[in-house]
Amino acid sequence: MIAILRKDAPQDAVDHLLGWIHKKGLETHVSHGANETIVGLVGDTTRIDPFLLESMDIVERVQRVSEPFKKANRKFHPQDTVVDCGLGVKIGGGYFPVIAGPCSVEGDNLIRIARAVKEAGATMLRGGAFKPRTSPYANQGMGERGLDLLCEARDELGMPVVTEIMDPRDVALFVDKGINVMQIGARNAQNFTLLKEVGKTQTPVLLKRGMSETIDELLMAAEYIMSEGNDNVILCERGIRTFETRTRNTFDLNAIPVLHYLSHLPVVADPSHAVGYTRYVPQMALAATAAGADGLEIEVHDDPSHAWSDGAQALTPAQFADTMRRIEAIRAAIA
Ligand code: PEP
Ligand code: MN
Repeated sequence: MIAILRKDAPQDAVDHLLGWIHKKGLETHVSHGANETIVGLVGDTTRIDPFLLESMDIVERVQRVSEPFKKANRKFHPQDTVVDCGLGVKIGGGYFPVIAGPCSVEGDNLIRIARAVKEAGATMLRGGAFKPRTSPYANQGMGERGLDLLCEARDELGMPVVTEIMDPRDVALFVDKGINVMQIGARNAQNFTLLKEVGKTQTPVLLKRGMSETIDELLMAAEYIMSEGNDNVILCERGIRTFETRTRNTFDLNAIPVLHYLSHLPVVADPSHAVGYTRYVPQMALAATAAGADGLEIEVHDDPSHAWSDGAQALTPAQFADTMRRIEAIRAAIA
């Protein structure tokens, strides 16, 4: 349920209304727009009589929100959310960062790749230190040492870092290291324990869509994080599993405008995991930009044939630089 307040509602009357709602055992989510203030009510709304609420002087109208996601819902928060990723990098509401780097943090090559992607215009650095591998015998990542390498690159280059968290027991480690954005990968997209744990921090979360997750399920996963108090959620379309086998996944570009319609959260697109082959990544990066993504996540490696993981979909620094030029042309064309 949302209550749209009158433009001239005095603050003490607003506070009184919020107190009244809290006493009924519900939470509130207040969004101040240019023309109106919207109070979102979260919890058991059967405890509130909508007619009584609407009869209050400062309330203009009351509307039911039928979707099960509330805090992630655009009805609660009509303006786009802008998530601050640190070091001056923001995402959403017109800010468009490109997150680039290797699939796995592997060692000294990280800083070389980081310098190259920065030079090409990327503003955030990615790299997995804890890797969710299909096989338990495949390289599982560098672990804590990988986080340190990311932080060293961040400190040298001034680029916020994005890295995957797989285990709720690692949240304190990621926070202590000052990781700028915690990524929740497709394989953990509905790991509710993990979602709740990252929700207890204020660190931005890049939440990837699960392999067979519907758009509504993705938004409910975001709701898990937000319901714990962390509103800094970035949604990520990274392809879903379909009957098609020519590409690693099927890039659901539809999801980008649909998510924007349903939610105020920023939407990043990851063409690398979506198509899985280097040759298709540039075109799909351009397509996602044209579809309205708020940013891109792209895997880049300076020696793809020796990459620890996902070499088949990595762009070389030169291919990435060329793609960045074309992304800028698309952005200018749709502005
Ligand atoms: C990754 O970003 O390297 C990754 C494993 O992504 P996803 O969870 O989308 O497969
Ligand atoms: Mn990868």
